[in-house]
Amino acid sequence: MDSSNKKRVAIIGAGPSGLAACKHALAKGFVPVIFDSGASVGGVWTRTLASTKLQTPAAAFQSLRLPLAGGHVGVPEPRPSAGYSGASEKEVTAWDRWSGNGEAFGDGSGEWHLTVEHIESGSIQKYEFDFLIVCVGRTTRTWEDHDAAELIRGKRVVVVGSGKSGLDTAAECAEANGSKYPCTLIYRTANWMVDHKLTWGLNVSKRTTTRLAELMVHKPEEGFALSLLATLLTPLRWLLSTVTETYYKMHIPMRKNGMVPDCTISQSLLGWKLGLLPDRFYDLVDEGSLVLNKCDSFSFCADGLVLDSGKRVEADVVILATGFNPDQLLRSVFTSPWVRDIVSGASSDTMLPLYRQVDSLLLIITSFFIFAIQYSIDFATLLLLTRKVVVDICRNIVHPRIPQMAIVGYLESRATIYPYEMMSKWVAHLLDGTVRLPSVKDMEKSVGEWALWGQGARRRSGSLFLKSCIATVTTWYHDQLCRDMGYSARRKKGFVAELMEPYGPTDYADIQ
Ligand SMILES: Cc1cc2nc3c(=O)[nH]c(=O)nc-3n(C[C@H](O)[C@H](O)[C@H](O)COP(=O)(O)OP(=O)(O)OC[C@H]3O[C@@H](n4cnc5c(N)ncnc54)[C@H](O)[C@@H]3O)c2cc1C
Repeated sequence: MDSSNKKRVAIIGAGPSGLAACKHALAKGFVPVIFDSGASVGGVWTRTLASTKLQTPAAAFQSLRLPLAGGHVGVPEPRPSAGYSGASEKEVTAWDRWSGNGEAFGDGSGEWHLTVEHIESGSIQKYEFDFLIVCVGRTTRTWEDHDAAELIRGKRVVVVGSGKSGLDTAAECAEANGSKYPCTLIYRTANWMVDHKLTWGLNVSKRTTTRLAELMVHKPEEGFALSLLATLLTPLRWLLSTVTETYYKMHIPMRKNGMVPDCTISQSLLGWKLGLLPDRFYDLVDEGSLVLNKCDSFSFCADGLVLDSGKRVEADVVILATGFNPDQLLRSVFTSPWVRDIVSGASSDTMLPLYRQVDSLLLIITSFFIFAIQYSIDFATLLLLTRKVVVDICRNIVHPRIPQMAIVGYLESRATIYPYEMMSKWVAHLLDGTVRLPSVKDMEKSVGEWALWGQGARRRSGSLFLKSCIATVTTWYHDQLCRDMGYSARRKKGFVAELMEPYGPTDYADIQ
């Protein structure tokens, strides 16, 4: 297709999700321009601590296959700000259809204006686009390795926080300074941090990516039959969780070091609050290079910190690894206070208010026939026929009230890259008109139902649930994206494989 006839597409963010969005837009004949506030492409992975490893198997990143065909990666630029011009906020709010007519580019009168200020020269450049894809990720950039190494060299370092970044940072400091200047890790609660060398069948990633595992958990908009099944399978989920916990407690010295989490593995999985232990983590504790201190609160004093127990910890450097604010990162892209207000919802929300809906008739049929008749009749045909008689189904990527804009890269999951690539494929299908969106009212209804599911997940996880975390329902989510794009959601050969084999990026490789 002649790309000169195509609409103009901008992507903000050149991390893995921005690159995936670019790759799939290119495949549909668009020539997007990527803007990034950094000087290089790759996002988080251009600067990580040496000890930070992929927590998910490399295969989960397989489908991205960089560099991009055609080499259309855009020019690294300072941080752009985006404003919409066309219909007024009042008009947009009154629309029954997303973008006015349900189309990716609306009626052609609306545009996104990107303003880029070049810090060094002070010059300002303005660009106009017909569609905006926001891929700014969930975290801000990390330090350059050598800056960090300089900062902590020969210092008494305290790291606060027991998440992935906290443990990686503490291990890195302990390795660098040894037992002469031990690093202290301060944490409120321990998380399930597991040793990647323990590869027994309790491989959490594999266990949670089968359809059988997904049948054991509640899913958004699942319908009565699947909800009942998930409830009936609760004892099996509990058993698997308990066996997994026992195994990890036996093989990782967490009891000895006071690092046994208060929550169950099942709860951690719901919010994806688990990660990989840095190499030699407990060896560093045994050597005296790393000191672990549990406390609920602390205050600063002249030479370090005072813990709530009254204990003093001397420190030259305190590193807070206490989390990030993805909503702020997302909001900061937009100039309009109205868009900023609605784009991410409230920080206490369980899901980003982005669109996703499954038609109830489709769900009822899916619930009843899901495994029983799938392979005795052609299930894909049944789904396609069903689509003919019900309204279209749609997805979790566009805000019902913000026209000509999609967000890729906010959802949390056990492996984030391949859901982001699936979302990118969906956006590309939206751009070329294959994916059709229903009314704004139906989109908002769907947003509400996902939020309801998120509230349940947050309750069940004991408040560990991260906003927009689909870790336990990733394949379920991909099923909806597949159907929207006109592909069968069943990607395996045979009933047993469909039920028992883990789902991963290679299952979706043929979707272009
Ligand atoms: C310590 C750590 C470990 C992780 N481990 C894993 C793992 O094992 N497996 C996994 O799947 N995921 C993991 N992740 C998640 C990780 O975020 C994803 O792998 C991936 O980097 C997300 O890609 P992204 O493009 O959405 O975001 P990012 O990689 O964060 O890229 C976003 C890009 O947008 C740019 N940007 C941000 N704001 C703006 C703006 N306003 N204007 C212009 N540009 C902007 C940034 O400069 C950056 O280049 C980990 C994250 C961290 C921090």
